[in-house]
Amino acid sequence: MNLDHFQRMSFTFGASPLEPLPRLSARLGGKVEIWAKRDDCNSGIAFGGNKTRKLEYMVPDAISTGCDTLVSIGGIQSNHTRQVAGVAAKAGLKCHLVHGSWVNWPDGLYDRVGNIQLSKIMGAHCTFSKEPFGIEFKKSWRVALEEVEELGGKPYAIPAGASDHPLGGLGYVRFAKELRQQERELGFTFDYIVVGSGTGSTQAGMIVGFKEDDRAQSVIGIDLIGLPDDTFRAIKKIAAQTAEMLNLGSPILDEDIVLKHGYAGPQYGIPSDATIEAIHVAGSLEGMITDPVYEGKSMHGLIDLVNKDYFETGSKVLYVHLGGAPALNGYSYAFR
Ligand SMILES: *Cc1c(COP(=O)(O)O)cnc(C)c1O
Repeated sequence: MNLDHFQRMSFTFGASPLEPLPRLSARLGGKVEIWAKRDDCNSGIAFGGNKTRKLEYMVPDAISTGCDTLVSIGGIQSNHTRQVAGVAAKAGLKCHLVHGSWVNWPDGLYDRVGNIQLSKIMGAHCTFSKEPFGIEFKKSWRVALEEVEELGGKPYAIPAGASDHPLGGLGYVRFAKELRQQERELGFTFDYIVVGSGTGSTQAGMIVGFKEDDRAQSVIGIDLIGLPDDTFRAIKKIAAQTAEMLNLGSPILDEDIVLKHGYAGPQYGIPSDATIEAIHVAGSLEGMITDPVYEGKSMHGLIDLVNKDYFETGSKVLYVHLGGAPALNGYSYAFR
């Protein structure tokens, strides 16, 4: 397979850092060695994160197809739309973002601080819709695409989470390549890679990327949305289509997709007490900041799986931190 057939614009600093988390490992009994791969600080563009990696493959496609406006959709505190605004600014493109009413959260400034504030600072046109949570094509998104056309622009449609798109899986196929190189330098390979899953292309890309060295099943996904069957299907679809595009040669099997659930909290965008506890644990032991929507939940999953002895003693477990801390400003109520 060859990723080099696809144009890529560099929006990241290079390989994202790896770091051991010895105090967290010790707190969980010292049975496993936990490390983090910090995709939350992978870029200087608007705090970066996992969508920035995926967008490295979409923005060149937008430009080479003559588009001048990136159009995308997310919840009000979407990390994804903030990263679309960031790469649009960097590439000199316009940006039109639709924010649905996906999360009902009581912070008074929820729709003004955090991600949405950053998107506005970067010049994105931000609109709000009353439509509830959904990762499929939404009416307000279609309206946004039409609006751009009516104004004489040429829109490039990026779905929620930059996932359900032909190029959606490529960023995290490249991640696998990057990690293999870092593992060669360290002189060992990780036994498990723990990663949060939402719209699915992060885990899907990793599965395809690690299938090459027969490690797809060491990618342990943590469902962050509370609809694990839907997320499983999304991962499967994106992984299959990405594998085919890259001529992987071996099909993606159901057993290649490991998705753990029970950590998504009461619902998407709402933390449970255990989410908040996990955020305090990672923050107070390692100074590593996670958020109530995504990484606090995958951190809860990691902690629970270690406590349940899911990983054999002595395993090296890599927690992939996908970003999301900018949403914290909208969640002051959870830490009042
Ligand atoms: C989008 C996002 C995820 C989920 O990634 P998917 O590719 O949608 O599965 C996890 N964590 C953070 C911080 C995110 O922004």
